[in-house]
Amino acid sequence: MTVRVLIVEDEPAVRRLLAYNLEAAGFEVAEARDGEEALRQIEELPPDLLILDWMLPGLSGIELCRRLRRRPATAALPVVMLTARVEERDRLRGLDTGADDYVTKPFSPAELVARVRAVLRRARPAMAGEVLTFADLRMDLASRRVFRGNREIPLSRTEFRLLRHLLENPHRVFERAQLLDRVWGLDADVELRTVDATIRRLRRALNAGGEPDLVRTVRGTGYALDLPEPAPEPLSAP
Ligand code: CA
Repeated sequence: MTVRVLIVEDEPAVRRLLAYNLEAAGFEVAEARDGEEALRQIEELPPDLLILDWMLPGLSGIELCRRLRRRPATAALPVVMLTARVEERDRLRGLDTGADDYVTKPFSPAELVARVRAVLRRARPAMAGEVLTFADLRMDLASRRVFRGNREIPLSRTEFRLLRHLLENPHRVFERAQLLDRVWGLDADVELRTVDATIRRLRRALNAGGEPDLVRTVRGTGYALDLPEPAPEPLSAP
């Protein structure tokens, strides 16, 4: 499965309806009954998109959305908010909730899936294509396979997430703390040197066939996916 959607809804019937239709549409689905449970799940394994009911016991959907927007790791997490009536949707649009789109209950499952896809396309254009490429590197998001040329590269879940993040943002330098945030998730109990160790393993896997190194180390800062500097002498004759 490619895209992971977290449904935050306290009504079991609506939650089941959403989960059923999203799974049928090919999404990987997780469920939370309230805002607190949602926050815990997001910290554990950040989803690609959140479907968030406005009316929740305890922490409201709006408050949860605002909290997520304030945290760097979830500031850009796409959110589709569910509202009870059209008037409420219009009122919510006026508030700055941070949601990317609103769907009014009762909704048609087909419409909801279409909205989810549209929000994903806007938020993460790379997902629409389902294949990320850079130089001779290719990541198929649907099958979760990575290739360098014709060679398939086996990666752990974390290495895959790290590479995916770099592939979605080529040439951009990320500090280790940023990578920690975006790849390992909120408040993960992981040290900065874990990032270095994972980069090391990723590099080893990517360059196992003796290919040029596409992961650039920016000393004292972090890492970027980049084309290597031209070598002073070719390593092998063409
Ligand atoms: Ca509700």
